[in-house]
Amino acid sequence: MSENPHICRSCGSDALKPIISLGDQPLANALRTEKDLPIPQKKYPLELVFCPNCSLVQITETVNPEELFSEYLYFSSYSDTMLRHAQSLSARITEKYHLSNDSLVIEIASNDGYLLQYFKKGGIPVLGIDPAKNIVKVAEEKGIPTKCAFFNLETARELRNEGKTGDILLGLNVLAHLADLSGFIEGVKILLKENGTAVFEVPYVRDMITRNEFDTIYHEHLYYYSLISLRNLFKNHNLEIVDAEQVPVHGGSLRVFVQHHKASIHPSTRLESLLAEEYEVGLDKLRYYEEFGREVTHLKADTLTLLAELKSRGKTIVAYGAAAKGSTLLNYYGITKETIDYIGDRSPYKQGKYLPGTQIPIVSPDTIAETKPDYIFILPWNLKDEIMDQLKYIKGWGGHYIIPIPRIQVI
Ligand SMILES: [Zn+2]
Repeated sequence: MSENPHICRSCGSDALKPIISLGDQPLANALRTEKDLPIPQKKYPLELVFCPNCSLVQITETVNPEELFSEYLYFSSYSDTMLRHAQSLSARITEKYHLSNDSLVIEIASNDGYLLQYFKKGGIPVLGIDPAKNIVKVAEEKGIPTKCAFFNLETARELRNEGKTGDILLGLNVLAHLADLSGFIEGVKILLKENGTAVFEVPYVRDMITRNEFDTIYHEHLYYYSLISLRNLFKNHNLEIVDAEQVPVHGGSLRVFVQHHKASIHPSTRLESLLAEEYEVGLDKLRYYEEFGREVTHLKADTLTLLAELKSRGKTIVAYGAAAKGSTLLNYYGITKETIDYIGDRSPYKQGKYLPGTQIPIVSPDTIAETKPDYIFILPWNLKDEIMDQLKYIKGWGGHYIIPIPRIQVI
């Protein structure tokens, strides 16, 4: 199932250095049903490591993608924030690269066509690639031509043979998930026109670290990129990052523009300054990441002390939001239903199930008003303002919130 877990998937180095171990963890999205409960849940090591050779931060374990994505039903178009992001990105790219009805924009993992639809509206030919049959069907119904396939070397060759290569190649939030990183980048090279540009967005490791967001680490995310590590990755395949910028989506992301290597290319000033900043902060050094490991260990200790103290005073604690990050956090902290009575969540799909590894039941948020708990532990802390607004009625009985990240905080 996994290749040697101690080889860097980007450069092949075997000198990987440990940053932090979050223990053996179940898959964060594998919610359990009542009848699953007596059966022990499969767990995999969740170990974050740093490659001193190419600076890529990654986890060691590669879980079989079929196990990971068996219930992957995410439709991007459901999120207003994502749609606004997609619309402005398509406008910027169209203008920057003078796209016309002679161009072709190809998106890898195109989902339901939520991004390509904006190019199409502008009269620019598009092609999506996505492995999920049900999602491809929705895209096709919306008039977005979509090839149903995993993107790899073979798919890239097939398309090239059909005469389809991209002036623009898009990959938003795909680079973090690839077991065969080299095969993917080679595929990009094949599918990208001589003078084309590939645009990738990835969650930015620097944001994860400065905000202590260790709960964004789970088995589906194999990589945590810096600009330095991305540049090394593309360089190994004779591709070059020519421009980069930070974007405020998914808790802080990095967007890079990649072209075939040519002697004539001049990297942008903002790329140069972002790189210089990374070297200054030390994103190419193990020390930077080790400090993060220590911070997270302290955060765990502080949180468990607080919860033990509240329980010893007979306080009731529940949680809100059964997101994947909540699974990483609670499993790493070893928090179970002994401490947290239940998790309120608005999704009917999740209600009646249990958070992986914890045996904590997921219920309708209405239960909060009925049971009047003393403390509500907010797992999707990134949405805390919105959630505290929804739950403001807990002030009626003197309820409090616990915010776990970046520091443990009671409000
Ligand atoms: Zn490496």
